[in-house]
Amino acid sequence: MDKSVFRNMSYGVYIVTTMDGMRPTGCVANSCMQITSDPSVVAVSINHDNYTNKCISESKSLAVNILTEQTDMTLIGRFGFQSAKDIDKFEGIAFEWAYGNPVFTDSCGWFAGDVIGSYETSTHTVFFVEVKDAKSLPGTPMTYAYYHKVKNGTSPKNAPTYQADEPAESSLEAASASRWICSICGYIYEGDVPFEELPDDWVCPVCKQPKSVFKKG
Ligand code: FE
Repeated sequence: MDKSVFRNMSYGVYIVTTMDGMRPTGCVANSCMQITSDPSVVAVSINHDNYTNKCISESKSLAVNILTEQTDMTLIGRFGFQSAKDIDKFEGIAFEWAYGNPVFTDSCGWFAGDVIGSYETSTHTVFFVEVKDAKSLPGTPMTYAYYHKVKNGTSPKNAPTYQADEPAESSLEAASASRWICSICGYIYEGDVPFEELPDDWVCPVCKQPKSVFKKG
């Protein structure tokens, strides 16, 4: 089976947000699609291992924030490559409230609503959400392809579209000797300054981990 065909499908890049009791939380998702118009129902796929999955199951409510080509990559690093079990993902991040869920203004829009059902696959829960509130904001939506090709982004292993030959897993061996790769998120450093000359407090622009987690390819 040629799984690379899935790369020809179109996806966006989203941050799905919800509440962990009184605390806002969320994670990056790319498998998200509208499935009915009236009422507006959207399906969102979240890995069983994501802490956000448990929070959505309990709160039965979520919001989807549509990221733009200009969205700060640190937002993706924070929500895509770190766990709310370890950090407060919203610390220092500007957000507003919509239908009881946190939403970002650094997006080209969001929608929020109630979980009206779900389906369990072997690795992911597909949540069906009836949208109750929505807002469109200026900006060009970031496609998953743009995230990979222009932003040098990679997929966490929990992403439904993750493929084992992505840089996050395989580039440590495959990359040329001149490349430095983040061992946490797979980001490949391609800056003008030689990696060795970056300051000691430099951090990965995607996952915010220190310079020390980078490995030479
Ligand atoms: Fe990283």
